Amino acid sequence: MPISVRDNVPLAPLTTLGVGGPARYFVEAASTGEVRHAIEWARARNLPLFVLGGGSNVLVSDRGFPGVVVRIAIRGIVEEAEGVFLAGAGEDWDALIARAVAANYGGIECLSGIPGSVGGTPVQNVGAYGQEVSETITSLEALDLRDLAPRTFANADCGFAYRQSIFNTTERGRWVILRVAYQLRKDAPPRIAYRDLKEYFAACKNPSPTLQQVRDAVREVRRSKAMLIVPGDDDSRSAGSFFKNPVLTLSDYQRLVQLAAERGEKVPSYPAEGQSSKVPAAWLVEHSGFAKGYARGAVGISRKHALAIVNRGGAAAADIVALKNEIQQRVHDTFGIELIPEPVMVGFDGV
Ligand SMILES: Cc1cc2nc3c(=O)[nH]c(=O)nc-3n(C[C@H](O)[C@H](O)[C@H](O)COP(=O)(O)OP(=O)(O)OC[C@H]3O[C@@H](n4cnc5c(N)ncnc54)[C@H](O)[C@@H]3O)c2cc1C
Repeated sequence: MPISVRDNVPLAPLTTLGVGGPARYFVEAASTGEVRHAIEWARARNLPLFVLGGGSNVLVSDRGFPGVVVRIAIRGIVEEAEGVFLAGAGEDWDALIARAVAANYGGIECLSGIPGSVGGTPVQNVGAYGQEVSETITSLEALDLRDLAPRTFANADCGFAYRQSIFNTTERGRWVILRVAYQLRKDAPPRIAYRDLKEYFAACKNPSPTLQQVRDAVREVRRSKAMLIVPGDDDSRSAGSFFKNPVLTLSDYQRLVQLAAERGEKVPSYPAEGQSSKVPAAWLVEHSGFAKGYARGAVGISRKHALAIVNRGGAAAADIVALKNEIQQRVHDTFGIELIPEPVMVGFDGV
């Protein structure tokens, strides 16, 4: 199965942030065989490899990537058994949700409007509006970059946690995800756990919305925060939330509460695992002196969401990094908390 290897392909148009340089070599792989060939091609030339999905959670450096970028284009959605949808990693994630919801399958309706590919969803265990994809993934198939052998991972093998799996931590860069299986529930009641959704349906006096109505509501709420990619809305030219919500130990949380109280502020928080608390990164950013709409040259903070760094047009990756650093520094100086970026940095530090 021959593959087509292209030279110096601009990566910016393949990412939602729209910044960064080219891939030295670029392959679009539409089957397991093509993925395998691309890996062998890179290996034979001793080149680094980067796996790209929908480009919605990456920041590509201005130099670009010096090796081979393999964009996963494996398609196909099969309902393998009642409610078990097996989808190719290159399928569009929101299109899969649209199809499932139209057939009245629940379990992923609150994840509507998250951009990117099916293969990207397990990597950081995407989550929104009270659902995480780890609740429905039953298994996934991936190719081992070490020996090119395929392996099936059960849900429990994936090490899912908040914005985390083995694929972005301990096993980062080792696996190419080929297909993901989701167990959905026919006629399931939609999940309305998140405040924004509760308020939405209270306001329209609809106490028992359908799955489709919840999907539509999630997309509408996301649009109002520029967390839905809408052509022409430059607040949505982002990588979504740029920072993870910090999960603090009890003592760190108490220290933060004390610090905020001295400033006359009250920290919002949600219970996390054990005795820890999750604190909204957006609150920390805004209370460190950054308002929505903050501008720094061609980059800025979204006018509609304090956690999104946006490219207002013509920005360089270096501009995004400079604003990221400024925010991290100021949050650290104000609250002593290290904000961890969510997007994957590509082509920085040599690779
Ligand atoms: C406007 C906007 C809103 C967003 N909202 C949310 C949100 O609500 N919740 C949330 O969790 N995320 C959100 N995101 C982030 C992003 O959409 C998700 O993380 C998405 O799942 C990334 O998928 P992708 O295909 O675009 O991955 P990419 O951006 O292409 O890649 C991200 C990482 O995954 C790896 N990867 C991708 N595909 C594969 C594969 N097949 N095999 C192995 N590794 C792979 C890449 O190597 C890279 O490390 C948002 C982003 C934007 C732009």
